[in-house]
Amino acid sequence: MRPDAVVVGSGPNGLVAAVMLARAGRRVLLLEAAERFGGGLRSGELTLPGRVHDLGATVMAMALASPAFRSLELKGVEFAHPAVVAAHPLDDRPAVLVHRDPRRTAEGLGRDAGAWLATVGATARAGFPLVELLLKPLGPWGTGPSRPGWVGPRVLAQAVRFGLAGVLPATTFARRAFRTVEGRALIAGMAAHSMLDLRSPISAGYGLLLASLAHLVGWPLVRGGSQVLADALVAELRSLGGEAVTGHRVRRLAELDAPTVVLDVSPRQLLTMAEWPAGYRRRLQRFRYGPGVFKVDWALDGPVPWRDPAVAGAGTVHLGGTLEEIALSEAEMAAGRHSPRPYVLLVQPYAADPTRGGHTLWAYCHVPNGSPVDMTDAIETQIERYAPGFRDRVLARHTMGPADLEALNPNLVGGDIGGGLAGLVQFVRRPVWSPAPWRTPLPGVFLCSASTPPGASVHGMGGWQAARLALRD
Ligand SMILES: Cc1cc2nc3c(=O)[nH]c(=O)nc-3n(C[C@H](O)[C@H](O)[C@H](O)COP(=O)(O)OP(=O)(O)OC[C@H]3O[C@@H](n4cnc5c(N)ncnc54)[C@H](O)[C@@H]3O)c2cc1C
Repeated sequence: MRPDAVVVGSGPNGLVAAVMLARAGRRVLLLEAAERFGGGLRSGELTLPGRVHDLGATVMAMALASPAFRSLELKGVEFAHPAVVAAHPLDDRPAVLVHRDPRRTAEGLGRDAGAWLATVGATARAGFPLVELLLKPLGPWGTGPSRPGWVGPRVLAQAVRFGLAGVLPATTFARRAFRTVEGRALIAGMAAHSMLDLRSPISAGYGLLLASLAHLVGWPLVRGGSQVLADALVAELRSLGGEAVTGHRVRRLAELDAPTVVLDVSPRQLLTMAEWPAGYRRRLQRFRYGPGVFKVDWALDGPVPWRDPAVAGAGTVHLGGTLEEIALSEAEMAAGRHSPRPYVLLVQPYAADPTRGGHTLWAYCHVPNGSPVDMTDAIETQIERYAPGFRDRVLARHTMGPADLEALNPNLVGGDIGGGLAGLVQFVRRPVWSPAPWRTPLPGVFLCSASTPPGASVHGMGGWQAARLALRD
């Protein structure tokens, strides 16, 4: 039977769009190029039999905070929280720890305790209405599930306050707001998730938001692997009568026969899928991709031997030292070079989830887009710096550079896991400047990937916005 809507791509955005359309009574067909659903939510045995690794996302802070996921109220997905949200080891002093409790976190920051509470703490206290506003920079405001109605003056005031700090480069914000090595390093580690040069505008905003989510919802992971979340969404779609197919790559829109098409694809691919009006084509061609990542997954025979044992309880660990060191490594990368001491983002799922077949670990560092350089040694050397003897624990490793990531998922152009540069311009011109960038010039055709606002992460907001527009149209 002819579907009412075809969704192309089953990343979190495609899955959210498919479920929303199906819940609204539409007959939905979901087509996924890979052999498994999920995109950035896929898990698999990358190293040894029985070891569950997340191929992409593990940390689900955004999913918990997102209006899209909260409105879906999915069943069968259990979120597991590590004892410590995140840790930032330093060479000659104890690691800085981020706890769910902002006061406990502040206590570890000495002279910067007040600064933490006044910046990150205040953002967390503003709660879901502020997060909702930040995740919906465009489109109709104030109509999300947590706040029916309009955006009140209190939320707007909090947003202005957040914006004044968030618009700054992370380096400027860290030096202005924090005085200690610990406080500044912690902000740098948070902001570097953005993959931006930390001297660029709005890099502070990413750091502030992520850090505040540690207090608001935590940084949990999905028990059993992120694939469980993707599979739950597919099961929900099928329970509503939707059809979901793997191993089907869509190359041209002409292949599809449905009044509504929602595309979880990158702008580069979108360009090749149809004859677009010249203006739209030119605007898509201007879209810029960000740096790539080099990722290593390990199977270990035990936990990482951190010099500071407190790091063992952390789900996420930021490696790279001080603000100055991290800023330098990210600036090198933005200039097209490879830092010998890169900022490394490391996730130890076993700190929260004992069901993944043993001690599995992953880490990545940022590299220039499309880089062919093997960063395994640089990453492991950074881990050894804070965990001497780490390499002795390695039973098996699996590496993925930009080309491998793109082969896994065509949306990861040049290894860019953010779906496009996340700087100020492309925060709103994503991929084109429009109050509704999820709409394309072709009637009934929508774009929902991380290359639409609000960008990368497992929040499903692109899918949510595209589905809402499709239903309204
Ligand atoms: C290594 C890594 C670590 C990450 N860590 C985190 C994390 O811890 N927390 C977090 O929140 N986010 C993380 N992310 C980012 C997050 O995974 C992405 O932002 C998110 O998955 C984007 O969702 P999406 O739906 O836009 O697209 P994707 O998840 O990229 O999925 C797109 C899907 O569409 C399919 N597809 C594309 N083109 C076609 C086509 N023509 N026909 C059919 N199918 C097609 C692809 O095969 C893919 O399955 C990480 C990403 C990576 C790669």
